[in-house]
Amino acid sequence: MDNCKNMKRVSKKETIKNGIKWMSEECFLAFTKYAEKINNLEGIKHRFGELCYQCLSVEAHDKNFHHYNFTIETEHRSTNVLTSQLYFAEVKQLSGVKSYFCCLLDQDDEGHCYGCKNQEMYGLKHPSTGCYEVGAADICWPFIDDTDSGSDGDDDCGGLGC
Ligand SMILES: [Zn+2]
Repeated sequence: MDNCKNMKRVSKKETIKNGIKWMSEECFLAFTKYAEKINNLEGIKHRFGELCYQCLSVEAHDKNFHHYNFTIETEHRSTNVLTSQLYFAEVKQLSGVKSYFCCLLDQDDEGHCYGCKNQEMYGLKHPSTGCYEVGAADICWPFIDDTDSGSDGDDDCGGLGC
């Protein structure tokens, strides 16, 4: 019984690890495209820091967008100074075509997004400047099936007395 439990836990962990790996790669790709456009990258080394938040919104069978918050560590070779900064990225898929958006986040950034809010992903920050998909307020999420309402009052059995 216990073995079974452990195996299940490991495989779930493994799945999460794999998920983080490909999502991190997506983020770094979005960042690279962004950095190439605005920076002279000579003498600067970038490394992926960590994935902080991610939220996938599906609007239609051929349209979805994935929002990410993650950090990038930047090393300036001339000064040897290592800095870590928080970024926002969006990976959008429209009819099978992927597009990437990425920008640096500021502490004051409070961009609005229905997609993330509808899924209660309040910690994920969006840039105030916009330029990303925000979803729709009245969208119906086919994959969120609220079946919890029927189990009201049955939770008492979790106590020691049972
Ligand atoms: Zn969002």
